[in-house]
Amino acid sequence: MAVFPDPESAVYVTVSALDAGHITLPDYLFVTGADPTVRTTVPSLSFLIQHPESSSGNATNLVFDLGVKRNLSGYAVAQQPHITQRQPIITSPDCAESLRKGAINGDEGRDLLNTDKDVDFVILSHVHWDHIGTPSDFPGATFVVGSGTLDLLKHGAGPNYPAELFNDDELPASRTVELPPTPNQNGQFEDYYARPIAPVHTPTPPDTQARLPSSADTWSWQPFSGFPRTIDFFGDQSVYVIDSPGHIHGHVNLLVRISEKKYVYLGGDCCHDTRILSGEKEIAEYDDGRGGVRSVHVHTPLAKETLAAINGGVNQLRETADVEVVLAHDKGWREHNRHRFWPDKL
Ligand SMILES: [Zn+2]
Repeated sequence: MAVFPDPESAVYVTVSALDAGHITLPDYLFVTGADPTVRTTVPSLSFLIQHPESSSGNATNLVFDLGVKRNLSGYAVAQQPHITQRQPIITSPDCAESLRKGAINGDEGRDLLNTDKDVDFVILSHVHWDHIGTPSDFPGATFVVGSGTLDLLKHGAGPNYPAELFNDDELPASRTVELPPTPNQNGQFEDYYARPIAPVHTPTPPDTQARLPSSADTWSWQPFSGFPRTIDFFGDQSVYVIDSPGHIHGHVNLLVRISEKKYVYLGGDCCHDTRILSGEKEIAEYDDGRGGVRSVHVHTPLAKETLAAINGGVNQLRETADVEVVLAHDKGWREHNRHRFWPDKL
């Protein structure tokens, strides 16, 4: 059973959706039973989370995921053929422009948010090209990523993700912090958690310029609601980072509390279609080009276990609160929720 803070002292955040580019995906790569000829242009959503700062009265701005780069030539040379297969790609507005201008047209010139200094934290669900965006747009932010992410950017992870697909200097080393390593709790998925596939954890250097909430001193993976491994980011139960392994190393989700009785679960790429989460469809598998099968996840059985854990946590939380789940590439959610994009909110 979830343990809730006293409603008098409970802290709530706001969540606003952000357009951060669109890419085009062949349906059959993602969901079983799809028409092999159908391709769908989907958003790669980012989110602005505003946490009330009790002392100064200023909000802390946290951005979850940065979407697609505004300038596609910024991706690694070896990544370019893949990007060509994802056309049409829409890069405007990107995440930074959405933060500055918001989704409302006719409001030109009004900077809602100064991306040079107003973004305190960027948390990336993972470092796939359609989520990493343009980190250099946020020179004042501390980047928080899953364990192994910095090594993944330098050395890759397994045959589907060689090092040359990534820019090894994509994240600012002096302002990036990896979350604590996550244990392979049941020992079942050593082919994901162990070398040579798994990237290694990079500790935060002593001279780091990263600025973290004071709660970071005691960050550790703890169960919350039915979720087996969570980190209470601000230490006040308003924002939880949820370990969600399987898609690619370092993949995390966010669970944020927006009112006494409402949470939002930001699912990143835990799956790409809400029908997979509901059990109506399965994760698609296809030829890996090396005589085997693969899916869009590095480790399909672990990705399935993660989906079961998400459903377990969400269902337990729903015994006492409303929980809305939003996936990064959910075209239908975007179309039905335009009124909840920054400067509006969920
Ligand atoms: Zn991904």
